[in-house]
Amino acid sequence: MAYIPDLSPETYNKYEDNAYTYLAVGWLGGEVRGKGDTAPEILYALLGAKKNNKLSDGWFGNHTCEICNTYDDHDEFFVPDGSTMYILPNMVSHYIQSHGYRLPEVVERALLNGEKQDQSVKPVVAGTY
Ligand SMILES: [Zn+2]
Repeated sequence: MAYIPDLSPETYNKYEDNAYTYLAVGWLGGEVRGKGDTAPEILYALLGAKKNNKLSDGWFGNHTCEICNTYDDHDEFFVPDGSTMYILPNMVSHYIQSHGYRLPEVVERALLNGEKQDQSVKPVVAGTY
């Protein structure tokens, strides 16, 4: 998995130049930078976004977690925040649940706000995935 610093405009896949600003979040590579506890409601909102806001990375292989080498995932998803779109790897939920990674605060806030605005994003039980 590529390492990209959080909130970098250099996303893993390139997106069309339009009204949105795309920022990469959660591309850890082989090291957890920014550890901390994640509140359950943020994790639920994140899993909802992962389920509802899928983006294909156009590649059918899996990426293996470089931290534990025992978990595979692929593709990415977005978290909208006004005119900003945070682009996260699907593996970010594994980073949070297994390796103590914590999202930047702006992304946590966007997840909480998004859940209030968009009722189609329903809480899901961790472990369904
Ligand atoms: Zn892992």
